[in-house]
Amino acid sequence: MAIDIVSRRDWGARAPRGGYTRLDSTRGVKVHYTGGRVDPGIVGDHDLCVSLVRSIQRHHMDGNGWMDIGYSFVACPHKKVFEGRGLHRLPAANGSGLNSAHYAVLGLVGNAGLVQPPDGVLHAVLDAIEHLRERGGAGREIKGHRDGYSTDCPGEPLYAWVRRGAPRPGGDGGGDGDGPGAPPFPGRLLRYPPVTRGEDVRTWQRQMRTRGWDIAVDGAYGSASRDVCRRFQRQQGVEDDGVVGPVTWRLAWEAPRAAGTAEAGEAAGAREAADASEAGEVGDASEAAEARETADAPEEPRT
Ligand SMILES: [Zn+2]
Ligand SMILES: [Zn+2]
Repeated sequence: MAIDIVSRRDWGARAPRGGYTRLDSTRGVKVHYTGGRVDPGIVGDHDLCVSLVRSIQRHHMDGNGWMDIGYSFVACPHKKVFEGRGLHRLPAANGSGLNSAHYAVLGLVGNAGLVQPPDGVLHAVLDAIEHLRERGGAGREIKGHRDGYSTDCPGEPLYAWVRRGAPRPGGDGGGDGDGPGAPPFPGRLLRYPPVTRGEDVRTWQRQMRTRGWDIAVDGAYGSASRDVCRRFQRQQGVEDDGVVGPVTWRLAWEAPRAAGTAEAGEAAGAREAADASEAGEVGDASEAAEARETADAPEEPRT
């Protein structure tokens, strides 16, 4: 399937302030996230993606003083790829001295709000990478911004995906992915009131119980299920509306179990300890690290 590019003209990009530095080839691509809160509403409204990309460009140009948005391409939940600096142009987002070795691709997720990358974002990141390989001389490497630079970017979920080899979602033939996958979303929202009943509710409750939450597996989604849902959503950094939609459903199977929060301890006690080592990787990377990227990551050579 072809890449679905949103051209600079289509997203209303400002003209760059000056000429780009040419890149003939790179070792590969580094994956980024926004480092801030991303409105989960973008999942249902592509116009919000467009606004967000514009605001990122504004921040990079007016805040950082860069000549353009720092990324080569931006991937949104609608499987669309925004043209940033584009092919054969030096990005600015990887950090000083690190931009000539890798293109920079941003996935539109953050450290709050929309935290887990929807499949559309992952597809679009991969579409951008394939495009960069075919047309931009990108090599085979796929890395995270944090590889070789002090930042928590691209956030734990995207970074874990990169570390798994950046597999295409959807698993044609199952593949060799090692992560436990969520069963298909049932296609309706599990919510209360009124009580939602069914096998899908039971499936979700059983999984939450497996994760360590104190919840009855009775196939009836009432106030108790809603409360567990809310606490789980807060723990995961998504909107705590108490409704099990596609994202909350998938998180129940695919999110690493949280460690180091009171809620995780309260919910699951010792069983969380088994997963602590993975979460510990980011445990001490402060959120401030990503802020530093934009605050003082030196600009690319001004030539
Ligand atoms: Zn980054
Ligand atoms: Zn979009």
